[in-house]
This record gives sequence, C-alpha cells and structure tokens, in this order.
Amino acid sequence: MRGELLKKELSIYTFSDLLEHYPHRHIDKTQVHKIGSISPATDFVQVVGILQPPALMGDKRARRLIAQLTDDTGTLELAWFQGANWVQKNLVPGQKYLVFGKTGFFNGKPQMVHPEIEIFTPAKEGGKDYLEPVYPATEKLKARGLNGRQLAKLTYQLFSMIKPADIPENIPAHILADYKLMNRYEAYSNIHFPVSDKAYKAALRRLKFEELFVAQVRLNLVRISRHQSSRGVIFEKVGDFFNTFYNQYLPFELTGAQKRVLKEIRTDTARGRQMNRLLQGDVGSGKTIVALLSMLLAADNGFQSCLMAPTEILAQQHYHGLSELLKDMGVELALLTGSTKTAARKKIMQGLQDGSLHFVVGTHAVIEEKVQFHNLGFVVVDEQHRFGVAQRAKLWEKAVIPPHVLVMTATPIPRTLAMTAYGDLDYSVMDELPPGRQPITTVHRNEMARATVMDFVKTEIEKGRQAYFIYPLIEESEKLSYEDLMQGYEQVKSFFPEPNYRISMVHGRQPSDQKETNMARFVNGDTQIMVATTVIEVGVNVPNASVMVIESSEKFGLSQLHQLRGRVGRGSEKSFCVLLTGQKVSNDARERIKIMCATNDGFLIAEKDLELRGPGDIEGTRQSGALNFKLANIVNDKEVLEVAKIAAEKLVEEDHTLNLAKNLELKNYLQAQKARSGWGKIS
Ligand code: ADP
Ligand code: MG
Repeated sequence: MRGELLKKELSIYTFSDLLEHYPHRHIDKTQVHKIGSISPATDFVQVVGILQPPALMGDKRARRLIAQLTDDTGTLELAWFQGANWVQKNLVPGQKYLVFGKTGFFNGKPQMVHPEIEIFTPAKEGGKDYLEPVYPATEKLKARGLNGRQLAKLTYQLFSMIKPADIPENIPAHILADYKLMNRYEAYSNIHFPVSDKAYKAALRRLKFEELFVAQVRLNLVRISRHQSSRGVIFEKVGDFFNTFYNQYLPFELTGAQKRVLKEIRTDTARGRQMNRLLQGDVGSGKTIVALLSMLLAADNGFQSCLMAPTEILAQQHYHGLSELLKDMGVELALLTGSTKTAARKKIMQGLQDGSLHFVVGTHAVIEEKVQFHNLGFVVVDEQHRFGVAQRAKLWEKAVIPPHVLVMTATPIPRTLAMTAYGDLDYSVMDELPPGRQPITTVHRNEMARATVMDFVKTEIEKGRQAYFIYPLIEESEKLSYEDLMQGYEQVKSFFPEPNYRISMVHGRQPSDQKETNMARFVNGDTQIMVATTVIEVGVNVPNASVMVIESSEKFGLSQLHQLRGRVGRGSEKSFCVLLTGQKVSNDARERIKIMCATNDGFLIAEKDLELRGPGDIEGTRQSGALNFKLANIVNDKEVLEVAKIAAEKLVEEDHTLNLAKNLELKNYLQAQKARSGWGKIS
C-alpha cells in the first residue's frame, strides 16, 4: 500500500530510488528561534512552542484550521487550508511542538501556513546523533499519513539494513584522492543522516561531483567511440565547385574564424569517419557561408547536401540567398517545404533520387520518409535550438554511410550547457564578426514615449533605411496576441500612412504563400516597414534594416531578444533597437532589458540567460536527458562541473574501454545504469 503510493507519487520503485530521494533540508534542533523575533523580513524559521487548542473555521467547502503556538516571547498563528479535519485529529493541544515553515504577516500578526510540525523532543532525549532529514512529500502522501518524517523513518530503516558493500564505490580511487572526495557509502549516509553540517556539505559535493563526472565520462565515451567506430563518407579533394566559388563568386573575404572552422570541417570530412560538429556563432557571425562552402566541398566529391531550417520563411530565405550566390555556378538546388506543390515535389524527389540535384534546402519536410537521396553526404542543421533530437536522428537513416552533420546554433549556448547537453559533439566557435559592423545601440523606452520612438523611426526611413516592429508570438490558438498584433499594425499604419510608406506584415497564422510574398516585398525594399511576430526571429537577413522596435519586450526571454535584435546591424549602417515596455515591469524583465542595453555580446548574454532562467528552461535541452541531475545544477555548480569534466576527459583519454583495473568499478556502474537512465545518442 505504501509502496504503491511511493511509486505513484514520487516514482520510488526500488531501494536505490529511496536512497536517491534526497532530503531538502535537515532539522538542526539547536537552531530554534524565539517567536518574538519573527519580523516581516523573516523568511523560513524554526520555533518551539505550546500548541493552543486549534479551531476549525469556515464552511464545508472552504474549511480551514487555525491554531496558536506560544512561547515566552509571543504567539504565532498556524493555518491549514487542506486536510484541516485530518490535521486537527492528529494535533495534541497543550503539547510542545517543533514547527518549521515560511512566515508571513496577516492582519499585523505573524502567521505560518501549512507548517511542518512535530512533537518536540530535545536532541539528546531522542538519542539521535545525526541531523534529521526532511524529505519532499506530496500532498497526497501527506494525506495518507506518509509525510516527510515518515519517509525519513523508511530511509533510516533501509540504512540500518545495508552495509558499505551494498553501495559500492564508482569513482576510481585516484580521483577520490585527487579531488578529496568522500567515499560513496559515506556520502549517501551523510546526505540523509549527516553527523554534522560539515559532513553534509562534503556528502553533497561528492554526490554532485559523481553526477557530473559520470555524465561527462559517458559523453566522452560516446564521442570517442563515434570517432573510432563510425564510418563516414570521405571528402578527399577540394575541387572545381569549391575553388570556382571561392575565387570568383565569394562576395567578401572570410573572417579568420570562418577560415578556421572551414579548416576543421575539411579535416573532419577527410578522415573517413562521420563528422558531428556543433558550430556556435553569434548572430551575424556568418555561419551560412561556412555551410555553403562545406556543401560545395561535398559536391566536389560527388555527394549531395541538405540544409535544414526550422521555419518555412528561413528555408525560403536560405534558398533564395544560395540561389543568388550560386547562380552562375551550375549547381542544381531545390527548395522543399511543407507547402511545395505536388508536381514540384515529385520532380524534386526524382532529382534527389537520381542524383541530378546537388543541394536541397528545406524545413523538416526534407526528413520525411518518402524523401530518398542518391548519395547524401552532408547535412546542415541551421538554428539548432528548434530541432528535436528525434528529428535529427532521422537523418542518419538517409544514407548507408551516415552523412556528415554540421549543427549551427542560432545564438551561442552557455559553455556549461554546451558541455553537458552537447558534450558528445565536437564543437567550433566563431567568435568574430565580419569587419565593418557597428555595435547596435539598444535603448529601453516606456510605451508612453511611443510618439518619439515613431518619429525616430521616421528619420531612419527617410534616410532610406528599413524598420521592424516586433510583437510577441502568435500561437495559432492565441487570440489575444493576434488582436494585439492587429491593433499594433493599425497603430503603425496611422504613424506611417500610405502611399508614402509601405508596410509588410508577417505572422504565424498566415498561409505560407502570403507570408512569403510579404517577406519578399520587405527583402526587396518594396516595403520599408515590417510588422511581424517572432516568426522572423531566426535567420532573416535584410542588411538595409537599421531599426527594430520590440513591443512588449518584457514578455521576451533574453536569447530571444538577442536573436531578434540580430535582424538589424547586418549592414554597414549604424543600427538601433528600441525595447518598448509597459509601465509596470517585473524585476526579472528589468534585468533582461538592462543586459540587452548593456551588451551586444551573444556569448555573454547566453551566460546571463542561463543564470536568470536556470538550466531546465533552456529551449531544446529539456528532452536531451543530459540535464536530469538530482543534485547538481550547472549554473550553481559550475566549478564542480569544470573539475568533473577535466577528470572525465583525462580518464577517458587514458582508458576509453575502461578496462584498466582501477576503472572497473566505474565500468560496472555505467553498465548497470545504462538501461535505467535512457542515455542514448544525443544528436
Ligand atoms: P548568421 O551567422 O547569423 O547565420 P549570416 O550567415 O546570415 O549570419 O551572415 C550575416 C551577414 O553577414 C550576411 O549578410 C552575410 O552575407 C554577411 N557576411 C558573412 N560573412 C562575411 C564576411 N566574412 N565578410 C562580410 N560579410 C559577411
Ligand atoms: Mg543564420
């Protein structure tokens, strides 16, 4: 019965699950505060007092239980809104209770809602020589009488049954020694029942290290085994396609970073093993041309390439951009998206199958099963954040020998995240922008200043520039933001009346041919203003656009703002970004806006974004499984992650089969864990 409940409510199935259900705090009975010392500034507090008879209040539907707890300095009100009847039955008036919880002030008096409460037993009397753990429990478990304290009893019983040999070490002894880590049994024992605060901290550090170290070892093993065992098509030569383009049609000199990355790709693809490379570059660093040159290299060696973009607009833009660059090159390329008409689609599929098409650019439509290639050799996944792991994996099945894969990020990924979520990929960084770019000036304006902002946009347009007005995303279902957008559109129109001004509008609810036409008009300069939602967020390239106004910018996340802002400042003109907000802005939003105004550096912004949001929320990483740590957190435990990574790399480099005697325990552990954790190919 309890077992069933634990399974259902906390996914605790086995002893080891119970061991890994960690306490969220410990009771230190020496840390008792006086009720009189509670002030509005107090947060969580532990007090001891005599419980006065509780009283049930309210009617049947909104029953609550109120009780007063008093010590010699004051009175604290305790309140329960759930399970009031049950709680009342279990409380003993006149008893001395130990109470812990978050305090608040209600009608000028201190109050604690749903406190943790137990009959007070002085530490010595209880005969316990450890700090008592308190475990997270669900409301349902509590209602069935299994609260955090009961879980503590269960865990304590479990501990009295097991011996050190039941929790074998999994980190090699030399690493334990090098990093002064507690052994595993001791760590488990002390994270639950620490003999002191110091012991608890040491246990915590050891277990965090273990989580991160094991994950890093795994990632390194995956990468090394791919290096060693995976076959890959060989691009042995640089030929006419590449050379002709490079010498005659490349419209600019490559940056040092672009050259370096191309060299890395060239080396990777000549080795006879599959390349899996993550290319990190800031917005506007010129990733597209690197992709194109790599695709030409594939063509030189008789292989087809595919460039996959996350949205239809972006796929179209890539297609048009590449077509323009390649127009005198005799390269055959096609655009394949969800809206490609049947007849055209048939022709493209034919061309891909018989090998007459060199390149295909598209959305995820290109990875549908029906699409067959003659000999796919190179795949570019642009703006990687939006592609799921499963989608990318489908590409593997498109050729006998898997094609080389270049994954390009929309904006940089924080270092710690790249290490954990993409640690099995090789990665390149483009940390240099093409020359002549001027930093974008970003300002924050209240929407009351809208008229001034509009005037400013007007002067830019009069200089021949173009402008974006961006509104929060429209989901198909989201009626409200659609109305906001339409209202915004009317407002922009009233400031910029026809026929002097021409406006394009693009949003997610439009049919794709309409989107395409509106986009094309802006790209061609037929329209000077683009009113859009975040559908234009990634990739769109209109170098003449020099100003972007982001409406309700408090609603956007940092990396999204940075990505949006990257749509301006792509030419040689000075560019501007105006972040409009309402009157009331939350502290978090204010912080984001401050960062945006202070820097253009995408690598820095990525770090801040991770700090503000926490690792669980970064797009595209949730399903990766690489961040499911129980204790470690890649933001707060950066230092531990760094050392764990170094230790793991060193170990795998020395012994990638883990057959050395000193690494056998680790090997056994990894094998035992494999089935349980669902680790697989990440990319
Ligand atoms: P992103 O990395 O954001 O995808 P793009 O590939 O779209 O950036 O490039 C941004 C702009 O910079 C494009 O207009 C592109 O033609 C231009 N560009 C790329 N590389 C260079 C370079 N080496 N010198 C000058 N302009 C460049
Ligand atoms: Mg791009």
